Amino acid sequence: MQIVHHIKELKAILLQQKENGVSIGFVPTMGALHEGHLSLVRKCKQSNDITVVSIYVNPAQFNNKNDLKSYPRDSERDCKLLSSEKCNIVFIPDDKEMYPVPDTREFNFGLMEQVMEGVHRTGHFNGVAKIVSKLFEAVEPDKAYFGQKDFQQLAIIRKLVKMNHYDIEIVACPIVREKNGLAMSSRNTLLTKEQRNAAPLIFKVIKEASNNLTSHHSVKSVKEYVRNTINSNKLLKLEYYEIVERNTLKPVSEISLKIPLTACIAVYAGNIRLIDNIDIN
Ligand code: AMP
Repeated sequence: MQIVHHIKELKAILLQQKENGVSIGFVPTMGALHEGHLSLVRKCKQSNDITVVSIYVNPAQFNNKNDLKSYPRDSERDCKLLSSEKCNIVFIPDDKEMYPVPDTREFNFGLMEQVMEGVHRTGHFNGVAKIVSKLFEAVEPDKAYFGQKDFQQLAIIRKLVKMNHYDIEIVACPIVREKNGLAMSSRNTLLTKEQRNAAPLIFKVIKEASNNLTSHHSVKSVKEYVRNTINSNKLLKLEYYEIVERNTLKPVSEISLKIPLTACIAVYAGNIRLIDNIDIN
């Protein structure tokens, strides 16, 4: 496994590989790897000759300084894990490498960034688009792998690919969960023992709510149910629960069985923000 820190070197290695006709798969991450990340790496390995994983905590996508400061980092452990998965190349740039000059680009994703994460994390998706576009241009992969855990991010990235005419296939990968249902996340390591015990309620509630929705409950009453149940646990606080059209991310107030829907949730456990989602129909 090669560990690369500079774009120039990365491009040179990949150019040589591409000249030999190999396919390149890419998994962008912020490190502190867990089974969720590794599921993407395994899927990537299955259908590409070369698997490139990037590890970079991108300051541009953090709207909260403390969140950026406390974000878990352990690239040595990450590299060991990736090496045992037989990953081919790990790209670990620093801030100077990714942002040699200030990146003042403004992306416009329309409605997609005016709901949920876009509302509660101002500028987040602009920061995501900055780094993902830079990484895509550095790696030029055939396929790139993203988790459905970040449902809205996945939709934004698909749009970014269309907007910029990238010749990259975006592969969506299912959410990997703990046995108790909690969606795996690097931020889970920051939870106290008590918060960790409380957090599985998040998935439990959205699962129950989605079962109710397929019968006859209204979206309004389900939203109330989710808010009350989450907030009844004193360690958790609901930020939002929204049911949206899966493809457009447009929030709905009524359930239609004809349109695929996804329910998305963001919850605070102390200062730690956790997100999850579930497909409804
Ligand atoms: P991150 O390091 O949080 O930026 O995540 C890197 C990639 O891993 C993103 O595409 C995430 O959606 C994906 N990912 C994170 N957690 C999970 C999970 N529990 N299951 C599946 N994919 C995940």
